[in-house]
Amino acid sequence: MMEIDRTQKWINHSWECMQNLNYNDWMERELKRFSSKKTILLHSCCGPCSTAVIDVLKDYFYITILYYNPNIEPVEEYIKRKEEQKRYIKESKLDIAFLDIDYENEAFKKIAKNLEHEPEGGARCHKCYYLRLFKTATMAMEKHFDYFGTTLTVSPYKNAKVINTIGLELEKSINEGKKEEDKVLFLVSDFKKKEGYKKSIELAKKYHLYRQEYCGCLYGVVNSKRGLENEQVRNV
Ligand code: SF4
Repeated sequence: MMEIDRTQKWINHSWECMQNLNYNDWMERELKRFSSKKTILLHSCCGPCSTAVIDVLKDYFYITILYYNPNIEPVEEYIKRKEEQKRYIKESKLDIAFLDIDYENEAFKKIAKNLEHEPEGGARCHKCYYLRLFKTATMAMEKHFDYFGTTLTVSPYKNAKVINTIGLELEKSINEGKKEEDKVLFLVSDFKKKEGYKKSIELAKKYHLYRQEYCGCLYGVVNSKRGLENEQVRNV
């Protein structure tokens, strides 16, 4: 039985937007109310980002990683990041399942059309988050998970408010007309808080994981200053 009332989540969300509060606090409050472990379908963008997120969630959830990232280009880069994700799951020896999906780059190209020149974090990225979260939500529903969520909020380049708004809207639409016991909930998060991003860098170093120099799509490479910023983060 679900422990979080959806109406209450919308009230919380409106309050968060007004007050600009902390989505990580919200997640922690939700996790504290669990009386037993739940199942979660966790969308992961890459191995390094998943490290710190799994570390936070592993005591609360039976985790299945969904690797759905049709935005990553070229295909060689997509395969490289996916293999690193699988290697981390194997070498960390954590009890994590892995769900793979075909590379659907055409689906990404379709939503990015006419938004090619948007800067990283702009309208193209919002559609990109939606594409990946929509797939995660629908698969979580089909496969009867308790929750769906994403590692995306661990990145300092990604806006937690935008990602959480999309996740909550999907939660609302996907559960329309469903019985209480069939509903799937979105895990609100901001994994970058409490040094989550720093921890992901440390764990990625420990496991010698490949860390990319750009977000994922080739438009992002052109419109991003991330390479330089990454160097600064690495040197901290
Ligand atoms: S920059 Fe990243 S989030 Fe934005 S559209 Fe490209 S891959 Fe998606």
